[in-house]
Amino acid sequence: MDNTKNHTFAIIGAGMSGILAGIKLKEAGYSFQIFEKADSVGGTWRENTYPGIACDVPSHIYSYSFELNPEWSSSHSPGEEIHKYFKNVAIKYGVEPSIRFNEGVTRCTWVDDEWEIETEKGHVERFKWVIAATGILHHPKYPDIEGMDDFEGPMFHTARWDHNIETKGKRIGLIGTGSSGVQITAEIAPEVEKLSVFQRTAQWVVPNERLEYTEEEREAFRTDADMLQNMHIEMSRAFNDGFATSVIDGESQLIDDIQNRCLEALETVEDLELREKLRPTYRAACKRLVVSHNFYDAVQRPNVNIITEAIDRIEKNGVRAGGELHELDVLVLATGFHVDAFMRPMDITGRNGIVLDEVWEDWPSAYLSIAVPEFPNFFMLNGPNSPVGNFSLIQTAEMQFDYVLKVVDHVNQGDLDVAAISEEAYNRFDTERYEAAKGTVWATGCNSWYLDNNGVPFAWPFPFSRFRSEMEAPKLEDYEPVKS
Ligand code: NAP
Repeated sequence: MDNTKNHTFAIIGAGMSGILAGIKLKEAGYSFQIFEKADSVGGTWRENTYPGIACDVPSHIYSYSFELNPEWSSSHSPGEEIHKYFKNVAIKYGVEPSIRFNEGVTRCTWVDDEWEIETEKGHVERFKWVIAATGILHHPKYPDIEGMDDFEGPMFHTARWDHNIETKGKRIGLIGTGSSGVQITAEIAPEVEKLSVFQRTAQWVVPNERLEYTEEEREAFRTDADMLQNMHIEMSRAFNDGFATSVIDGESQLIDDIQNRCLEALETVEDLELREKLRPTYRAACKRLVVSHNFYDAVQRPNVNIITEAIDRIEKNGVRAGGELHELDVLVLATGFHVDAFMRPMDITGRNGIVLDEVWEDWPSAYLSIAVPEFPNFFMLNGPNSPVGNFSLIQTAEMQFDYVLKVVDHVNQGDLDVAAISEEAYNRFDTERYEAAKGTVWATGCNSWYLDNNGVPFAWPFPFSRFRSEMEAPKLEDYEPVKS
């Protein structure tokens, strides 16, 4: 075991929230080590490189609050630009030298009041604290369709896009019409010979205006820091106190308004048969809203076919649906992610030999999205029950990290021996959030990745203002008291 480095914190993952944790710990004067399984930073923005990838949350709120970016090229910047932003921030704030690349963590074990961490390289080190910043949407979900191995052409998941494969001028099949599938459809439709989109459930598509910023506008952002800051604050408020709060009320007026905007956009589909195929039969925002300014244009192209018949099987030459074979050169799986994995398959063992995999056997949950009893000094960023949806996860992570630092201070000041959330507080929170989840828009009758194994939404089901206030002031009484 290598104890020579003796860092206080281990951060797992160098994506958006891992970089954030590194920056904040550095500022606070703590020593830390970031472990990253891949060879560069950026998490989801490193892994997702599919054509058309962009953030559907406005760029000026999809930025760290302390590093607003006057250089965004557009209101909804492309994935590559976002990836570059995170890389630059990691360098600018000096956290990159603290990242060990190509070194995924395989084990975290609570031993002698410390976390023993083992990596895939076999290194074993001890830390007082662990911050799991491993993201939510990072384990591709492959569909369970008969004949998956029979297809003879290239086939890949959206998060594993094979850029060696040419799609231009080819017959492309795309299974799935979530945010990824819709962005890909809009991007590749004009250049492929034929695009066969296999849609199992129609999506609500909110039209957004995508504005390219001019050099004059960027210059104004550069020279007027207050304007940039005010824009960030106002847009955040609109998203967090507006949309993020409306989704917890299954009957909210704002969702009615959004649904009407979606319906207006749907009316632009001229072919009535196609329009009906694209019309959802559940409430808007029940699934995560798909945001697109050009999806409906793309699907009206003559070379695009929306197939709503159920897929029978995949065959060597294509996909058979409703009895008809759709011949394809390339098959893209836009079928989403396993959202219940979080840090797993990492082997995480807390106090008294309690294994996280067993605690989370049914479905993962965490006190205030942050902590689990019997796993002291172990915090998650964007963990289970975090606010998720059509708003900036960066702000969520920033609030969560501020909370973590406050709890660390309490331990340092002797208010707590270790940061161990009590079983009672965890159960109380979990019962309350489970009940609240049933009244949210996500529970109004659709299938989505927001639902747990029992069909109950697992995202934060309270007003966003409650999340903010919980994060601002940790409740010491919810932690195990100091032993006298
Ligand atoms: P997703 O929303 O989970 O969508 C998966 C799609 O695949 C759905 O249309 C689903 O149909 C379909 N599907 C899954 N299994 C299937 C099967 N066996 N047969 C036929 N269809 C099947 O996944 P995603 O599009 O990758 O998006 C996941 C999340 O990533 C988003 O909700 C969002 O949070 C994030 N994301 C964000 C952005 C952004 O711009 N910010 C962009 C992309 C992704 P059903 O609807 O019937 O289940």
